[in-house]
Amino acid sequence: MIRVASLGSGSRGNATVIECGATRLLIDCGFNLKTIEARAAEAAFDLSSLTAILVTHEHSDHIGGVSKLARRYKLPIYTTVGTWHAKPQTEVPQLNFLCSHSPVQIEEVCVYPVAVPHDAREPVQFVFEYDGLRFGVLTDLGSISAHVAEVVSDLDGLLIEFNHCVERLRTGSYPASLKRRVGGEFGHLNNAQALDFVQQLDHQRLQLLVAGHISEQNNCSEVVAEMLAPLSSTIDRIQIASQRQGFDWLEIAHPA
Ligand SMILES: [Zn+2]
Ligand SMILES: [Zn+2]
Repeated sequence: MIRVASLGSGSRGNATVIECGATRLLIDCGFNLKTIEARAAEAAFDLSSLTAILVTHEHSDHIGGVSKLARRYKLPIYTTVGTWHAKPQTEVPQLNFLCSHSPVQIEEVCVYPVAVPHDAREPVQFVFEYDGLRFGVLTDLGSISAHVAEVVSDLDGLLIEFNHCVERLRTGSYPASLKRRVGGEFGHLNNAQALDFVQQLDHQRLQLLVAGHISEQNNCSEVVAEMLAPLSSTIDRIQIASQRQGFDWLEIAHPA
């Protein structure tokens, strides 16, 4: 069984936990120490039970709280050289560099980094494999490259960004340069891109779908939920992650 939970999802901070057996990996920490500790306490999650922190890229909503958290709980960090050099953090307990195209075993879990098109130095997302189950985390990418489509496949569960609605972004209050960035090839997935990708996946196998990194300015979770409703006939569980609360533990397991 793989369990997954989030302490917040969106442009104001991300932190996702993947639990495989006794191995608990935190993907990103975009919250300061006080906030992440408060949220973990609220969710009855013990941060000292973490095995390691994986960092996807250097944007502050992903890396902002990483070094302090790593120091406080003596956690090793896994990230790419590019991410680290873009925003070097001081005095972390243990630093492990990931190659963006090679899997790495972290205790019980096989972690497949996935290079993604995003406006950062060497951004990756991840597929986690444990006990024959595969869970993908796919946020912060402007487009689905052939590489992403190839690696992020054969999934039992997926957390994917439904970042913005093209029309809301176009008519919204962002300055033109930011609209171009968010909507561009190296920005974020819009609802239609994310839905299209999900529709291509093998729904026989996919049991859990979580929509996350939803923009508070340029999207609306009700709209995303409505878009996803027709998929509930083929996918067991569909969830929406929120900026404030993320989502509570969800699991994927082999059919009984
Ligand atoms: Zn982000
Ligand atoms: Zn980003």
